[in-house]
Amino acid sequence: MAQNNNKKKSPFASVITWIYIPLILILLYMWFHYDGGDPMKTEWYEVKEKMIAEGDVEKINYVMNEQTGTVTIKKDRLKKYENKFGGKELKYQNLFYFQLPALFDVEKEFSGLRDTLPENKKFEYTLDNATDYWGNIFNWLWPLLFIIFTIYLFSRLSRGMSGGAGGSGGGGGGIFSVGKSQAKVFDKNSKVKVTFKDVAGLEEAKVEIMEIVDFLKSPSKYTSLGGKIPKGALLIGPPGTGKTLLAKAVAGEANVPFFSMSGSDFVEMFVGVGASRVRDLFKQAKEKTPCIVFIDEIDAVGRARGKNVGFSSNDERENTLNQLLTEMDGFGTNSGVIILAATNRADILDKALMRAGRFDRQITIDLPELKDREAIFKVHLKKLKLDPDLDTSFLAKQTPGFSGADIANVCNEAALIAARHNKKHVDKQDFLDAIDRIVGGLERKSKIIPPSEKRTIAFHEAGHATVSWFLPNANPLLKVTIIPRGKALGAAWYVPEERQIMTKEQMMDEMASLIGGRVAEEIINNKISSGALNDLERLTKMAYAMVAYYGMSDKVGNVSWYNFQEDGYQLSKPFSEKTAEMVDQETKVLIDKAHQMAKDVLESHMDGFKELAQLLLEKEVIFAEDLERIYGPRVKELDSAAPAKELPETPEELPETSESKTE
Ligand code: ADP
Repeated sequence: MAQNNNKKKSPFASVITWIYIPLILILLYMWFHYDGGDPMKTEWYEVKEKMIAEGDVEKINYVMNEQTGTVTIKKDRLKKYENKFGGKELKYQNLFYFQLPALFDVEKEFSGLRDTLPENKKFEYTLDNATDYWGNIFNWLWPLLFIIFTIYLFSRLSRGMSGGAGGSGGGGGGIFSVGKSQAKVFDKNSKVKVTFKDVAGLEEAKVEIMEIVDFLKSPSKYTSLGGKIPKGALLIGPPGTGKTLLAKAVAGEANVPFFSMSGSDFVEMFVGVGASRVRDLFKQAKEKTPCIVFIDEIDAVGRARGKNVGFSSNDERENTLNQLLTEMDGFGTNSGVIILAATNRADILDKALMRAGRFDRQITIDLPELKDREAIFKVHLKKLKLDPDLDTSFLAKQTPGFSGADIANVCNEAALIAARHNKKHVDKQDFLDAIDRIVGGLERKSKIIPPSEKRTIAFHEAGHATVSWFLPNANPLLKVTIIPRGKALGAAWYVPEERQIMTKEQMMDEMASLIGGRVAEEIINNKISSGALNDLERLTKMAYAMVAYYGMSDKVGNVSWYNFQEDGYQLSKPFSEKTAEMVDQETKVLIDKAHQMAKDVLESHMDGFKELAQLLLEKEVIFAEDLERIYGPRVKELDSAAPAKELPETPEELPETSESKTE
């Protein structure tokens, strides 16, 4: 790690010390100037008629602006007054004080009185105006102490905010280093040793990244042919797909200093700090070339600028981004600083950031496919004590749509579940439970569902299962459950086939399975319920997409309005009212067709369907094997081999049917 934190701290370094020192000095001063107890209050006539008259008074100190006089008794007369002070021996002489009205002419009174006294009873007097030393001192001390305290507080605060990540390079330093970059630095001595071996799958991304590592190790190989070393690479992909992990692996492999920080680290509550941190980061990086700078979640600063002028709260972020753009342009191509950044929102990034010359390379990382999932499982299973019979490919098959982070989480959950049951090994059932838990949320055992509702849910789910079983193009069923989990009351889980394109037939079968639950309720209860919300929502989206995005309706034709406006076509609606109506009608036709398909299937397999629902009510969870027992083996997809026409890019919120829930 970069900095040596073992330096001995000087005892004077802490601000607290600087608060204590004056306090101690004040106390010492008071100690040495202590002249005894407080004087006792008395009245002027007492002083005049008794003390002065008896010749006991040595001196009177009169403070005009406080209208208070202190009486000093002659040393040899102190004994006389001991009784008044509880009989103890008196060591101090200013025993009494008195007060006089403001208009009282003290000087005249004192001098007049003194003149009438015989020589042995005469007393001295002084008339002062008190200067309030303590008051004065405190008047300037308080603000000073206040300022010191505030600075101290701020420095603690900003240390807490920025040093929390425990970085070895930045972290800490308090308010005085607020504009410094908070990057963590990993270099040869760092203990973080993630290598490419720890990153499973992601082969293409690894190749690209390894090339960058290679650039840094032997730049001449590339520059001698006239090529330029790229300045940066942007890793784009859904959360948890291993972008950060990949960057860490680069740190482990490259053997060059690696600065890591998150986009949000630039942003602080102080204006100008972001830009200054960017400058500082690049300054540090340039001092250590060749090196790699990694900015995680770059969308925190790299969001497109200037869309909402007038909201000045964005200014700070924009300044930071401008600085970042400038810095990326500012150093020479071959200076050996390579910037990696990661985001899962490439769509919102500023275009200027993405242009060639800044992030020349964009590496897209997708959710892992079957083979990659198996590899990721293998990486994470290494740490667990496993049942020797456990089949990793089975686990990979059970986890479609899972990211690397989800898989890591499944492995950890499975180990915890096994430990809860005091098992010696983590076995298949633990993994299945862990997957259920991660997909569906916590099982809600305490949720009480009336028997009539439970029956409806069972028929609903049996409806999904039956329809999908008999439609050859639907996703194969994994299991059906009516145990409430998270928000869902029941669910039918499918194994989505990892297909990149979908035919119209596949989509129709998919839609029929989705509406199968609602149709089952119609047939059995003659009533429909709100439980089909989630199904209908997805059904509607899919049907609209088929008509308006995929050109799958004969009437509307081969048109697609997908992403129309975002691509710069400023038409508020790129189709006429008539076409809009047609889209609506065609969507309804598709949904009605799916409804009819589902109804036909259920009506022609009524006995099996009822048996299945009954079984579901008894066992709560049933698997594909149970369906096979009731209905016989499933008819396989008919036309999976026939390649379909390539569809436009699938909108994110569409297909990926892995589950259909009852809400
Ligand atoms: P991202 O930055 O893409 O959101 P991370 O890199 O932080 O995701 O991944 C989170 C965790 O998921 C990692 O620490 C790792 O345990 C696991 N993981 C993700 N992808 C992979 C992979 N390809 N191989 C091994 N583990 C992975």
